[in-house]
Amino acid sequence: MTIGIWILGNQLWLQQAALATCKQQKEQTPIILIESHFYSQQRLYHYQKLVLVWSAMRHFAEELQANQWPVTYEIADDFETPLNHWIKSNKITEVRVMTPTDRPFSLLIKNLQLACPITFVPNNHFLWSSQEFKEWTNSRKRLLMEDFYREGRKRFNILMKDKKPVGGQWNFDKYNRKPPKQKLKTPPVLWFEPDQITQTVIDEIKQKKLPGHGSLEPFRWGVTRGNGLAVLDHFINHCLDNFGPYQDAMITGEKTLWHSLISPYLNLGLLTPIEVIKAVEKAYHDKSLPLNSIEGLIRQVLGWREYMHGIYHYQDDDYAQNNWFYHTEPLPQFYWDSSKTNMNCLSQVLQQVEETGYGHHIQRLMVLSNFALIFGVNPSEIENWFHCAFIDAYDWVMVTNVIGMGQFADGGILASKPYASSANYINKMSDYCSNCVYNHRKRTGENACPFNFLYWNFLFRHQQQLKSLGRMNLVLSHLSRMEEQELNEIQNLAEEWRKKVRS
Ligand SMILES: Cc1cc2nc3c(=O)[nH]c(=O)nc-3n(C[C@H](O)[C@H](O)[C@H](O)COP(=O)(O)OP(=O)(O)OC[C@H]3O[C@@H](n4cnc5c(N)ncnc54)[C@H](O)[C@@H]3O)c2cc1C
Ligand code: SF4
Repeated sequence: MTIGIWILGNQLWLQQAALATCKQQKEQTPIILIESHFYSQQRLYHYQKLVLVWSAMRHFAEELQANQWPVTYEIADDFETPLNHWIKSNKITEVRVMTPTDRPFSLLIKNLQLACPITFVPNNHFLWSSQEFKEWTNSRKRLLMEDFYREGRKRFNILMKDKKPVGGQWNFDKYNRKPPKQKLKTPPVLWFEPDQITQTVIDEIKQKKLPGHGSLEPFRWGVTRGNGLAVLDHFINHCLDNFGPYQDAMITGEKTLWHSLISPYLNLGLLTPIEVIKAVEKAYHDKSLPLNSIEGLIRQVLGWREYMHGIYHYQDDDYAQNNWFYHTEPLPQFYWDSSKTNMNCLSQVLQQVEETGYGHHIQRLMVLSNFALIFGVNPSEIENWFHCAFIDAYDWVMVTNVIGMGQFADGGILASKPYASSANYINKMSDYCSNCVYNHRKRTGENACPFNFLYWNFLFRHQQQLKSLGRMNLVLSHLSRMEEQELNEIQNLAEEWRKKVRS
């Protein structure tokens, strides 16, 4: 009997569950990694993501070889052909693969016609297994992230003292979310020059003229576990102190601010969530960094990231098809080409995403997703776009963040109210409005900001549904006090604008 292990492109660490099952007989366990060009062309993925994943896979294959695992590396159209060839030539009787984090990929594997059986090994990419998350949900009326996060703090003993939260509170957000008022000095970013493996991937994409989105070069993301650890270290030493206060701020030309940039590495397995959490907790004790920043970052990784993954597997397969507001507008073309919009906030963020495949949380939520929501874009269209445009996008994190959090298409499973806002929020949290052809104060008339009339039009169109949420009552009371003439003007402007964008 010969067991072979198939390693997927986002399962790149030596302790992953499938490798762990055979580590005692590693020299006799054939390993395969496959770059499938057919699979990579199912969406118009960002070029930076293609380079990141393929280069990280090639580097990981070298790491496996250095650790005495016999590795086969294939570049092919499909998965089936190289898998069957590898099974036959190594006389493999069972293929093992760690269960993918993404449900569509599990289905793809189940449908492969292979020359021997394939076994799924439970995934150990997250701190909470899907089964543990399900047990946590038992007997809960609402699946609140806050409750889940506190449970995680206790379960993994993070920032706890004598069974109580360090600092006497679970949350220090009142010290965070500062607008970027004064001129801020931002920290340097740790980028990497492409090595030979990365440059080869870039050259192959060019030679084969593979389709994709955004810029292929310059490519400056890390591609190894060593690079991921260096990014984490850089974040702790240069950015963590101000991460909390400015995590929601947006500044023209500042692509990363005090954010960690660790999601591409976490999502590929080059970094593990527990090592990130422990390193940040250690910085609190060793470097006396501010607790509001420390707790803020730990909340993102131990709270939001684990929660999103838990919810993704807890929901039914058709969760991604939800469309609570029945939105049907096609995605505006400018999402694919930033030069086609004159709205400064969108143009700035879209251009940055085209160049790097990265935007921080508030750029994603309150600019890109917020606009799609109030414009009325079909949730699956905006979800597909996010999946194509971002370096760290995978089904588990896309469906929850875009369909659930960003578009409120699940009607409130994941968030208690829609993340919809007018220009007010963008003007408060960024400097984008001061350099825009639109007037952020105007909701009607010449140069009125589209975020304003589309926001009020969104509230008007969906007021019956929104009333049922309770938390929207205050803002709906402003709507009911609006003069009829202004309301009519808003409806007309919104409709004209939609027509113009569609054409
Ligand atoms: C519409 C939308 C789309 C998003 N798409 C993605 C995506 O494709 N891939 C992705 O990993 N995250 C996504 N997020 C979550 C979050 O915006 C990114 O994880 C974060 O911006 C990545 O940058 P960073 O590493 O600098 O994060 P930081 O701001 O430094 O945060 C640290 C880490 O916390 C984790 N985290 C924080 N919030 C979330 C969250 N809501 N879901 C999952 N992890 C979280 C990430 O691992 C992140 O690296 C999305 C959020 C929204 C609202
Ligand atoms: S005025 Fe409106 S469109 Fe212009 S940057 Fe501000 S929010 Fe964006």
